[in-house]
Amino acid sequence: MDSQGEYQNVVIVGAGICGLATALGLHRKRIRCLVLEKAASMRTEGSGIDIFANGWRALDQLRVGTELRTKSIAVTEIHEQWLEENRMRVFPCSNVEVRCVRRKDLIEILANNLPANTLRFNCQITAISTDPATSFPVLHTSDGMVIKAKIVIGCDGLNSIVAKSLGLVMPKSFPTWVLRGFTPYPDGHSFGTFFYRIRNKHLFLGRVPVDDRLVHWFIAPMNPFKDLNDLKDPKLIRDFAVELLQKFPSEVIEMVKASDLSSISLRYISYRPPWQLMLNDLWRGTMVLAGDAMHVMGPFLGQGGCASIEDGVVLARCISQKLPADSECTVISDKELHERIEAALSDYVKERKLRVIGLSTNSYLIGSITGTSSWVKKLLCIIILVLFFKDSPLCHSDYDCGKL
Ligand SMILES: Cc1cc2nc3c(=O)[nH]c(=O)nc-3n(C[C@H](O)[C@H](O)[C@H](O)COP(=O)(O)OP(=O)(O)OC[C@H]3O[C@@H](n4cnc5c(N)ncnc54)[C@H](O)[C@@H]3O)c2cc1C
Repeated sequence: MDSQGEYQNVVIVGAGICGLATALGLHRKRIRCLVLEKAASMRTEGSGIDIFANGWRALDQLRVGTELRTKSIAVTEIHEQWLEENRMRVFPCSNVEVRCVRRKDLIEILANNLPANTLRFNCQITAISTDPATSFPVLHTSDGMVIKAKIVIGCDGLNSIVAKSLGLVMPKSFPTWVLRGFTPYPDGHSFGTFFYRIRNKHLFLGRVPVDDRLVHWFIAPMNPFKDLNDLKDPKLIRDFAVELLQKFPSEVIEMVKASDLSSISLRYISYRPPWQLMLNDLWRGTMVLAGDAMHVMGPFLGQGGCASIEDGVVLARCISQKLPADSECTVISDKELHERIEAALSDYVKERKLRVIGLSTNSYLIGSITGTSSWVKKLLCIIILVLFFKDSPLCHSDYDCGKL
């Protein structure tokens, strides 16, 4: 650091799933980076996250899949049940890996595999400018520090400051939410290895085992719902969930009643509309977006986090193909370095764009069906879904982001 500020080669803004996966990808490629996180420590709160085969492929490339698998059991079948129609569909998962992991386990394993001094907490980026002499980005922190970086990767989630400085508008929200939590079964549960997805006209409930003694569940309304922003107390949220589930089988009501209050959360659903991904620059100069900062989507497909891990693998690969190793960074001119980085980021966005537009469009259509009371809009979305997307909870897992 000098009086002009601190110099870094690669800076990642945000230490969520995407920031950590990208940092680990770069580390595996022997490229040093610094991850700046506004929170005071690793954000390990939250309940479960479903990881589908595409996410496991990406985690294997980062060489953390094996360790994370020891923390969860594999789902063998997905059961979808319609209560009113007494109808059931079963999707075997024999060739498709599906597991629900604790978000905490995923975050900790990614972080623990990073070299010391990669993560810097209590560091909130409040503005980004451009160095007039070099055209590289300059990051300004809330405590007045200046960090000059060669590459800035925006993994800063929903309210991304990097997305804002690239000219993207804020993501939108559906008038609907997801309520979720964990239920521990100290003597073991009897739900086997099945992922249950049960619905009636009003409500959708998912139940998936994390291991033999822990189950993750979530509830979402099938139609727009009154504003629940005032509902903050976990006990009241749980009571509210139990009340909503009156017409559901007693075993799921008992499961929600027995849930761990510290794991309960209620989140409104945000999304970046697919047309924003099509029409906007997702990189400029030597700044780029990844994860929710680029493509926050409703959780209906369980793919936002998986796609964020894929982003990390592809971005690390593209950068390593074009960027010289750390030690050589100083021996080429700023102009040449700029060109190489631009080529890497352009390759990355080209490779990711179609994939994330597909996921975002599918999840946008599902969100629009549940988020509108207009039957015309619902019907239109259903028609587009039927025409362009497979009707299977596993349809997006058949994707391989390739080698690191
Ligand atoms: C209810 C729900 C259920 C979901 N279920 C699934 C699922 O089953 N499977 C799945 O794959 N995905 C799921 N997702 C999506 C998944 O959780 C997200 O896609 C994923 O967590 C995105 O990670 P990220 O690192 O991009 O963003 P985030 O997790 O939001 O991380 C961003 C980080 O950046 C930090 N930050 C923000 N601004 C700044 C700043 N200015 N300076 C410094 N730091 C900053 C934040 O503190 C945060 O730590 C679900 C999402 C929701 C809401």
